[in-house]
This record gives sequence, structure tokens and C-alpha cells, in this order.
Amino acid sequence: MLTLVCATANPHKAKELEELLRALGSFTLLPRPLEVGDIVEDGETFEDNAILKAQAICAATGKAALADDSGLSVIALHGQPGVHSARYAGEDATDADNRTKLLTAMEGIEDRRATFTAAIAVAFPDEVIIVAEGEVHGTITTSLVGSRGFGYDPLFIPDEGDGRTFGEMTSDEKHALSHRRRALESLVEALRHAGRQ
Ligand code: IMP
Repeated sequence: MLTLVCATANPHKAKELEELLRALGSFTLLPRPLEVGDIVEDGETFEDNAILKAQAICAATGKAALADDSGLSVIALHGQPGVHSARYAGEDATDADNRTKLLTAMEGIEDRRATFTAAIAVAFPDEVIIVAEGEVHGTITTSLVGSRGFGYDPLFIPDEGDGRTFGEMTSDEKHALSHRRRALESLVEALRHAGRQ
């Protein structure tokens, strides 16, 4: 049994990570301590930011910590919003603000291909870091479709699905295809390989 402190402050991501980890092995996920302040995510890649967050929570708690950094990269927008997905429409932007900004930015654009990426890192108190990445390719809709999930879910149709957006899928249906699930699967394999699980 590996106990990890969850570095994410986003309740939707924390819920998905917990559900996925429960299915993937014997993990206990502890909530992010409330007293830990914001972590500056100034890395250039999802992986950099996941490591930064995992290290900061590990240092603050003295316990192994797991962090997810993720986002949506749109080909026609040269990879935007990318690592800025959470703050695309501004520092205090809501998910709805970000979705509106994306739909506006893509008005009239025919090439709607995009990729969700998740980098997930575990930092251990002995300074070992294990990190893995997962992706799912798809297309961006022209309006909101579905009310489930979070973030850009109602705008994203995964290529390997049945034409529905992530926002129309149950948690289990999204998990079967998601970038987060793919990253966690690779992470669990790497943890086992390193003798950490
Ligand atoms: P982070 O907390 O800095 O990693 O921000 C991730 C942002 O990317 C979230 O706030 C969402 O806007 C977006 N995002 C990441 N994963 C997903 C997902 O599975 N569905 C929808 N949006 C996501």
C-alpha cells in the first residue's frame, strides 16, 4: 500500500485521480493540506509543472506526493491553451470563462484537432521522482455539448469514442479513454518497476 498526498487543489481532478488509483492498485490518496499555499506553476511543460507541484507538497508534508498537471493543446492555436489551460481567460478565470474564450478563438477555424495531456509525478522524501504522461486526441466542438465532467470536457470529442464529448460521458466512460488514466497506468508501471509499489 502506497500512501500519497494529493497535490491538486482542483476537486474534479482529485476525484478522478482517486477513482482511477482505486482501480489501478493499492494506493491511499490523502487530501492536499489546507495550509499549503498556492504553488507557482512556471514550468514550460506539463511534466515540469507536475514535478514542481509534487516536490512542493512533498517538501511541505514530508510525505510522498502525487501531482497532476494537465491541459488542452489545440493544433490550429499553435498548442494553446496548453500549460495555461486553467488560466486561459485570466488569473481568476472559471472553467466557463475558459470555454467561452476557446470557442471564440476557434470561430471560423475548420481544423479543430486537439490533444488533452496529463503529466503525473510522484515525489518521494528521498528525492526520487517518478513521472509519466498520457494523451488523448480529439476534436473541439463549435458549442457546449453535455454537462458532465469539468474544464473543457463539454468541448472535446475523443477520436476513439462514439462521437460524444467527454461532457456527455459517465466517469467510467471518460476514464476508459482519458489522458489521466493513460498517464496513471504508465506511472503505476514505473512505480512498480522502481520497487516503490
Ligand atoms: P492544472 O490544474 O494547472 O493542471 O490545470 C488543468 C486545466 O486543464 C484544468 O483547469 C482544465 O481546464 C483543463 N483540463 C485538464 N484535464 C482536463 C480534463 O480531463 N477535462 C477537462 N479539462 C481538463
